[in-house]
Amino acid sequence: MLIVMEAQATPDQIKAVEAAVKARGYEARPIPGGERMSIGVLRNKGAVDAALFVGLAGVKDVIPVTRPYKLVSRETRPEDTIVHVGGIAIGNGHPVVIAGPCAIESEEQALIIARHVKSAGAHLFRGGAFKPRTSPYSFQGLGLEGLKILAKVRQETGMPVVTEVMDTETFDQVEAYADVIQIGTRNMQNFSLLRQAGRSKRPVLLKRGLAATIDEWLMAAEYIMEGGNTDVILCERGVRTFVHHSRNTLDLSAVPYVRRESHLPIIIDPSHAAGRRDQVIPLARAAAAVGADGLMVEVHHQPDQALSDGAQSLLPEQFASLIRQVDQIFAIFKNS
Ligand code: PEP
Ligand code: MN
Repeated sequence: MLIVMEAQATPDQIKAVEAAVKARGYEARPIPGGERMSIGVLRNKGAVDAALFVGLAGVKDVIPVTRPYKLVSRETRPEDTIVHVGGIAIGNGHPVVIAGPCAIESEEQALIIARHVKSAGAHLFRGGAFKPRTSPYSFQGLGLEGLKILAKVRQETGMPVVTEVMDTETFDQVEAYADVIQIGTRNMQNFSLLRQAGRSKRPVLLKRGLAATIDEWLMAAEYIMEGGNTDVILCERGVRTFVHHSRNTLDLSAVPYVRRESHLPIIIDPSHAAGRRDQVIPLARAAAAVGADGLMVEVHHQPDQALSDGAQSLLPEQFASLIRQVDQIFAIFKNS
């Protein structure tokens, strides 16, 4: 349930409503909106009687939240959430592009790619230091050394950096270096990791699970928001289907559906969806057309020597072409 306060409600009235919610044994979660404050009622076991709160001073409306995800739902917050990272806004109508290699392999590799993607127009740099690999024999990432390289990239290029956290043990380390903490597809339902991300001050980029429904994905985001972290960016990266012509199947309809259901920004990762270079630009164009808030793209200057995901990594000049193409598509929809 959501208690919507009058735009003119005073701080004392808001406090009194919170106290009334707590007195009933529920949690009161203030949710600031554009014009007014709302108070989410959480931890209720069954239906909450609206009559308990409608008559309180400063209360405009009491509305039921029908979805299982409460804080993530547009019922709770009708306005889009805008996530701010180092001067860049994600979800404000200006699409954001995150680009870089799958894995940080060396300082030289990271800096070469970072300079390329920055000059092509990328806003944030990505690169894995802790890599979730299918095989234990594959390159697992540089770990802490990779995080330090990311910090150098940020210092040299000014781009905020996005990197994946794989487990609760290394969470603090990743949090200390990352501007945005990525939770990967394989960890979308790692609930202890989600809870830890919920306590973090860093924005979280939450990838959709390999075979997750959208409800499961939004419930995973709810874990993060429930912990107090409201800066969640959703990332559709393709789901597992029966096909062999691509690594995964990009679920484009996730974008309009998530937009209707949630106020959180949603971006698309065409690289992991495709798994092969020749499909990345066409899928990125589709992502721009379907109204995504941004893209995450893998780029490598020597993809045939990449230690991870070379087959899907774009060459720098291909990435520059991608940016030119998607910019035109985004421009068509800008004022519509
Ligand atoms: C990645 O972005 O580096 C990654 C491993 O992606 P995903 O979790 O979507 O497979
Ligand atoms: Mn990858």
